[in-house]
Amino acid sequence: MGDDIQREVACKVVKGLLDTPGKLGYVDDDSIDGIVPDYAILEEIDYKYPATNAYITYVTRGCIRKCPFCAVHRIEPEFRHYSSIKEQVDEISSRYGAKKDLLLLDNNVLASDRFADIIAEIKSLGFERGATFSYNSKGGRTVTAQRYVDFNQGLDGRLLTEEKMALLSEIAIRPLRIAFDDIAYKDLYIENVRLAAKYGITHLSNYVLFNYLDTPDDFYERLKINIRLNEELGLRIFSFPMRYVDLKSKNRLVDTPGNLGKNWTKKQLRSIQCILHATHGVVGAKRPFFEKAFGQDIQEFNKIALMPEDYIMHRYRHEDDGSVDRWWQQLNDLSTQDKEEALSIVLSNDFRKIPYIYSSTPVMQFLEHYLVGYEKQLNLFADAQLGDRTADFVIRDKVSLNNQVGDLQSPTYIH
Ligand code: SF4
Repeated sequence: MGDDIQREVACKVVKGLLDTPGKLGYVDDDSIDGIVPDYAILEEIDYKYPATNAYITYVTRGCIRKCPFCAVHRIEPEFRHYSSIKEQVDEISSRYGAKKDLLLLDNNVLASDRFADIIAEIKSLGFERGATFSYNSKGGRTVTAQRYVDFNQGLDGRLLTEEKMALLSEIAIRPLRIAFDDIAYKDLYIENVRLAAKYGITHLSNYVLFNYLDTPDDFYERLKINIRLNEELGLRIFSFPMRYVDLKSKNRLVDTPGNLGKNWTKKQLRSIQCILHATHGVVGAKRPFFEKAFGQDIQEFNKIALMPEDYIMHRYRHEDDGSVDRWWQQLNDLSTQDKEEALSIVLSNDFRKIPYIYSSTPVMQFLEHYLVGYEKQLNLFADAQLGDRTADFVIRDKVSLNNQVGDLQSPTYIH
């Protein structure tokens, strides 16, 4: 990875951790890893970074595993089991004032042989279970709020034991993030969630890798499992689906070799992206919202994945005006050959040539649904490939979803 960067940019890549002085070759070159983050930068950006009021640091570095889809073991090849965070927390407090929460960016903290010490230190810093934080509001009132500890890169469910869960329950953890990247870990994942519930941890989150070796069906199943667990155990589990992109890829476009999973189509990926626009990337904890967004079962999920983008993003409007029913009926009325032809275009997710190739055939009448709002999207997104697009996604219960999501912060890595 470092060699690739050096080939593209005139620079020298320093590999491994910057945890000893002098690694960059400057005279005043300190241990970069121990430097206090510059919170003043957060004042200069034009959006509110959600973790502004948190100590942001690491206790461990690297990971013991080498999951092929993950960059961690390439960037931080050695696992460091423990490094005290007290000094950094004290320094942040003295420079920028005390912070309410603790955001730990560890990649695999459960792999640490000092895990009990880590928990003890977190508690000693004032982040024990039920810990609160008092501050003066702008109006001069004293406000007391719950403190949260967030291992925001997630925990490796394969290393969770009852003993470690008991330790986690001693700190103000919220949410508890567990990776659920593979349906093969279904039983283990469910067992871990039950264990969390047993220890009174009620706010959970999980990373759901998709477009890797998984299938759309098992992706849906992983999301649905959380809905069932929420209902059964009275929990609030939010899912963060994370689309796999080849580590060697220089962009996130699905047309780039390696970025399209062998069991996925461009259309399915684009449809999931459309659904997730409504939820800011989060799958809510409540069944009605989940079933509206992703479908009541796998059959309905697969139907939504085929829907024209505009129908997914403005679902209520197109259901109310009958377009969704017409679209579905027209698809089912096509002859086998026409259906095959139409679906091959739909699954390619490229509708630019439709008006030039087809005339007033049943295939064209069906494909016209995909042109609704398409010009607008083309202008908006510059081309028809799947990239980092934004859209004016409208969903009626967005406000209630925002309330459900609360203070969850977006993840950056995955387990
Ligand atoms: S996905 Fe998680 S467990 Fe796997 S290598 Fe990356 S950090 Fe480690």
